[in-house]
Amino acid sequence: MKNGKEKVILANWKMRLNLKETQELAQEMVKKFKDFNGGTVGLCPNFISLPSVKKILDGSQIKLGAQDVFWEEVGAYTGEISAKILSEVGCDYVLIGHSERRELLMENYEMIHKKLKVVLSSTKLTPVVCIGENWDERKTDRRNFVLYEQMHQALSGIDLKESRDIIIAYEPIWAIGSGTAIEPEEAQYAHKIIKMTLSDMFGEKTVERNFKIIYGGSVNKDNAKDFVGLENLDGLLVGGASLKADEFYAVAKTITNF
Ligand code: PEP
Repeated sequence: MKNGKEKVILANWKMRLNLKETQELAQEMVKKFKDFNGGTVGLCPNFISLPSVKKILDGSQIKLGAQDVFWEEVGAYTGEISAKILSEVGCDYVLIGHSERRELLMENYEMIHKKLKVVLSSTKLTPVVCIGENWDERKTDRRNFVLYEQMHQALSGIDLKESRDIIIAYEPIWAIGSGTAIEPEEAQYAHKIIKMTLSDMFGEKTVERNFKIIYGGSVNKDNAKDFVGLENLDGLLVGGASLKADEFYAVAKTITNF
């Protein structure tokens, strides 16, 4: 069944841009998306840039997101950033458990679970929980199990208020930054597994009301059309193709039929 949820398209700028480049790109995005009302668009720049990008986005419809958060509310945690600070700075979204953090910084789903909990309990930020299998898991047919496990570890026991949304970003690790997105049918299938697992955990009504499932992994202006109208696909998380305003706009326009 297709769904009518409003699409969300998030840009993950990672650590690719310096402060000046970040601000310039944010300004270009504001111009580009001036009349866009196809869905919700958000930018996730580096931590340091958040306050200045917030100022640039003020008055526009583009939302602000952070790329990470710490799992405690406050305290002696050198170098970490709390959910409340992100909220104070004006973020609407926060990525949790991106695969680059899982792979490079040994972030695991116990940490991801704690991050999700603190975001939900201490702020109004919408968490974007990243899940996805690596190439070895995909090749050996373990994807469904991996997704099931990741979701259970991240979300079990979460107290989800009616008004709170959670976005699940399905990002097959082997597709991220590879230049080739996965086949749309394969994304659709994975999204179905995710939706079924969420329905088992929270019930269908809650899944319809509170969850969105977005895809990430080498989506660009050329292949975005392949993802249009896919079942259970509520948007995109875009890395490389979000570093140029024209290309990100083209992706957003395509996926929302704007
Ligand atoms: C990402 O890392 O979240 C991502 C989607 O990257 P890319 O689009 O570059 O594959």
